Amino acid sequence: MSRLAFTEAITENRAAFAENEFQHQIKVLRRQQGDLIKFLDGRGVQYEGRIVSIDKRKKWFQAEITKIRPAAPPAPLHLLVALPKGGKLDSIIQKAVELGVTGITPLLTERTEVRLKAVNKICARMEHWHKIAVAAIKQSDNPYLPIISEPREITRLQLEPAAENSRRIVFHPAAANISLNELNIDKNAIVTLALGPEGGFTESEIEQFKSLRFLPVGLGKRILRLETAVVSALTLIQYLRNSF
Ligand code: SAH
Repeated sequence: MSRLAFTEAITENRAAFAENEFQHQIKVLRRQQGDLIKFLDGRGVQYEGRIVSIDKRKKWFQAEITKIRPAAPPAPLHLLVALPKGGKLDSIIQKAVELGVTGITPLLTERTEVRLKAVNKICARMEHWHKIAVAAIKQSDNPYLPIISEPREITRLQLEPAAENSRRIVFHPAAANISLNELNIDKNAIVTLALGPEGGFTESEIEQFKSLRFLPVGLGKRILRLETAVVSALTLIQYLRNSF
């Protein structure tokens, strides 16, 4: 488990850490007042600080910031991924965050078998996904926490306006004749990727993507499981634009 901590509660020279971090840093790692810790805010800054107070009853602690290291913003890389059954999205989020995505939107597609109707269920899942993303940025020392949006249908996607350097790609085995290296993906490309459910996108969904200026692209001659396809696609994009 990572030794890095995470907090969004940062003022000019202090950072406060709530129960989760208290459990890990104080209970598990046995840090004490005066110890140095490293932490992230998820908005692009890596910090170092000294623990100045610990409240064991309220289960929180504070650190005084001693060093600030801002990181360059990552190239935009948004993942639209069909919401799989069970807990499979958890490991997809974990891997996607390690590979540097800047946003994730779970897609509700025609062949998606999950229906998240109750609002409270969506909130609980989103909270859970947020925690997984936070653990993944800590584990991979990635200073940028991606935004995870609520699950939505293709027709309800909110896309950035298309620009000259936008690359919108929908991975579809039937588009095997077009591959990623034909798309001229460089460092400045604003990339949005869509990957479908185990049953694949339907042809009408592919048409909807095309009308949103997505290009259907193949990912090799074998059909990959969704989790494998996500990792392969992200790895290739990061490689093509020299962003590893
Ligand atoms: N039976 C489905 C495959 C689904 S695999 C079909 O034939 O469409 C789940 C998702 O992974 C796909 O929707 C696609 O987005 C991606 N994928 C897997 N293998 C791929 C390949 N060889 N080329 C392009 N996309 C692929």
